[in-house]
Amino acid sequence: MKKLVLLGAGYGNMRIMNRILGNLPADVEVTLVDRTAFHSLKTEFYALASGTVPDSDVRVALPAHERLKVVEGEIAAIEIDERCILLTDGRKVAYDQLVIGLGCEDNYHSVPGAAEHTFSIQTIGQSRETYKKLLNLNSGATVAIVGAGLSGIELASELRESRSDLNIKLFDRGPRILRDFPERLSNYIKTWFDKNDVDVIASSNITKVEGNRIYNHEDQMEVDAVVWTAGIQPTKVVRELDVEKDKSHRVVLNQYHQIPGHEEVYAVGDIASLPHAPSAQLAEGQAEQIVTVLRHTWNDEKLPETMPDIKLKGFMGSLGKKQGFAYLADRTVTGRIARLLKSGVLWMYKWHNG
Ligand SMILES: Cc1cc2nc3c(=O)[nH]c(=O)nc-3n(C[C@H](O)[C@H](O)[C@H](O)COP(=O)(O)OP(=O)(O)OC[C@H]3O[C@@H](n4cnc5c(N)ncnc54)[C@H](O)[C@@H]3O)c2cc1C
Repeated sequence: MKKLVLLGAGYGNMRIMNRILGNLPADVEVTLVDRTAFHSLKTEFYALASGTVPDSDVRVALPAHERLKVVEGEIAAIEIDERCILLTDGRKVAYDQLVIGLGCEDNYHSVPGAAEHTFSIQTIGQSRETYKKLLNLNSGATVAIVGAGLSGIELASELRESRSDLNIKLFDRGPRILRDFPERLSNYIKTWFDKNDVDVIASSNITKVEGNRIYNHEDQMEVDAVVWTAGIQPTKVVRELDVEKDKSHRVVLNQYHQIPGHEEVYAVGDIASLPHAPSAQLAEGQAEQIVTVLRHTWNDEKLPETMPDIKLKGFMGSLGKKQGFAYLADRTVTGRIARLLKSGVLWMYKWHNG
């Protein structure tokens, strides 16, 4: 039996399982390792943290198959030369082929106090903690959200709808929200925040976080909670893996998504060095290609000369439950339609994933 081991039940590995399990060669068995016994809908963690959806809405059951084994546990290290995975409880999982899809965690950019004093929406466990903190705040409390990328925008707007009694400050590093995209999109989001009393602080630079204080440049502000949405990096296990990385610590791969020198090891999703910003969509596009390559290796076929580019459709974001925005095929869509599109994509995703 050939042992294919998948690390992480994220968007990348879910797509791989969906594509291979229906037609798994008789001599291949799959082991999935994750700290949770379900697939987490990370793209919805902002809603979990804001208390607008129940926990059960952001969990999806893992697929079942007679040759799929699920190992629940915390991965401590990938012993790439020994072809084995070490769990924190001492268990080991050996592999012939490996797909690493362990996603990312917050990048605090060495800001003092950020790791210790901020809340996160990077894992389901952290999002639950953030939910507890935010929903227990007294009326009139101030929440600072550091970083006005997609996740910061979605969190600020969802929290506003959930708690109209909180002061919400959204710190944006750029002069305007989503500055790399059309001004119409930025203006639409900014207008929503103005109307809904979310204070957007442009051109900010958070230099320090203390227990109940945040420093923007030299200005100090008293706050009751800080949520960090200001950057990501691959998980620690991947950062500690002794292979070539790019400047964002993501794993450098060949065109078949394999680690050069360790062609039995693939990296998928947020940890992979690809010419696009990390996203669930990208993880899934990459997963499709990994499935093609795996099938070639299982059939002892020559790999394609070149792999096609991964096509991305754009992105969508929500502003609470009724409004949203999308940037698709270089076109900006805003309002109710964009929100319905986003809900529709989530509904389809859940439907396809059982
Ligand atoms: C609030 C928010 C909104 C987002 N919105 C969008 C969006 O609209 N569209 C979009 O395309 N992308 C969006 N993203 C980004 C998207 O969620 C990620 O790009 C995507 O989840 C990456 O998928 P992945 O397969 O790399 O890993 P993930 O989906 O992150 O999964 C990683 C898995 O690895 C497991 N794991 C990690 N470390 C360990 C360990 N040491 N031991 C055991 N298990 C471990 C985790 O439990 C998890 O199941 C959003 C992200 C956030 C935070």
